Amino acid sequence: MKRFLFFAAFLFWNGLSYAQVDTTQRVIQDRHNSTEQQQKPYVILISADGFRYDYADKYQAKNLLALRQKGVQAESMIPSFPTKTFPNHYTIVTGLYPAHHGLVNNNFYDPQRKEHYSMRDRSKVEDGSWYGGTPLWVLAEQQQMLSASFFWVGSEAPIQGILPTYHYQYNEQIPMEKRIQTVVDWLNLQEDRRPHLITFYMPEVDHAGHRFGPDAPETRQAVQELDAHIRQLTDAVATTGLPVNFVFVSDHGMIEIDTKDTYPLPAAIDTAKFMVSGPGMLVELHAKDKSAIKSTYKKLKKEAKGYQVYKKSNVPKHLHYGKKDDRYRRIGDMLLLTDAPKIFHFSTRPPSPGTHGYDATKVKAMHATFYAWGPAFRQGVTIPSFENIDIYPLVTELLGLRYNHKIDGKKKLVREVIK
Ligand code: AMP
Ligand code: ZN
Ligand code: ZN
Repeated sequence: MKRFLFFAAFLFWNGLSYAQVDTTQRVIQDRHNSTEQQQKPYVILISADGFRYDYADKYQAKNLLALRQKGVQAESMIPSFPTKTFPNHYTIVTGLYPAHHGLVNNNFYDPQRKEHYSMRDRSKVEDGSWYGGTPLWVLAEQQQMLSASFFWVGSEAPIQGILPTYHYQYNEQIPMEKRIQTVVDWLNLQEDRRPHLITFYMPEVDHAGHRFGPDAPETRQAVQELDAHIRQLTDAVATTGLPVNFVFVSDHGMIEIDTKDTYPLPAAIDTAKFMVSGPGMLVELHAKDKSAIKSTYKKLKKEAKGYQVYKKSNVPKHLHYGKKDDRYRRIGDMLLLTDAPKIFHFSTRPPSPGTHGYDATKVKAMHATFYAWGPAFRQGVTIPSFENIDIYPLVTELLGLRYNHKIDGKKKLVREVIK
């Protein structure tokens, strides 16, 4: 009986949470491609969440291996710090480091707003005021080029007042076949209503990596399934006969963590004096009263074993996550960073075996994937690893979009991969 009640409660809760999510396509009417934009090619930007740089080879993802062979591949793509989903997806579409676009983590505290942002909170995810920079779809729409999104971080929020012309509220229940068919339907629209930039997001490999670890058969299976979906998508898109360029990326990699020996909240931290975010490999402390910082920092430095302690003013420069970079003032006053594969863990429930978030310059398993193919790309080319801030100048070049604002990404990638 108890079990039944638990199951009934589970069904009710799930039903409730999905009932709140709209599965219909949201369309902004009265937008049209300008005549100039109608002449442009098409870009499908695909993200496979948590698709580590070596997964296609490790798990022999035969379709991806064949597609990258016809185009370009990077040895790896270097994600920004912290190597989490929200900061990195938003970096990819803005060309800015997380501290420069404001989405500094999946969940974070903003001391000026006195509010928390959380990827699980729809009201925050859909509130454009949290998002800085100019995402690719906003740039496109500003230049009378239509865009569409079958999910991407930020695509459900009006940023600078602009949403993609076609988009969906995030809902993993929508079957992949339907998502693929929708992309084809978009490409079959009349030229003035047809999106030239399409974002497409696939979460399954990340889920498997967390639950079972990067080396598990379940993760192999998830990679194989994703690979089959990529084949379905590319075959279906080919039927349109349009010049479509595919950019296949991931946001970060995955590592097997030490689930046995995790770190509790350090004794030096008085939770009455600090807001603590985390846990995981990164714990951030926002001081309620700044005078508590100095003494706590001193104590933590003495106590710290297996993790690094930084004040916002002495975070290593290459992380772009310190005081100078903190444009939105959302980074904690102090940061605790564990050495891989250790994590902080504050609950009694055991942690999942796979995770990500570590400094990618130190932990290769955090590296992401980059493959690209289509009429604009060189063929059979392998390039060295590059940072994910460089995707923005690449996509703007492919679509002939102009921008004057300053970004972190550089044009070097464009020269290496485009014909
Ligand atoms: P993590 O792997 O901890 O960085 O978190 C990734 C999670 O973000 C996945 O579970 C996805 O399901 C979720 N996610 C990705 N895009 C969105 C979105 N647009 N809205 C809400 N959740 C998302
Ligand atoms: Zn992710
Ligand atoms: Zn993840």
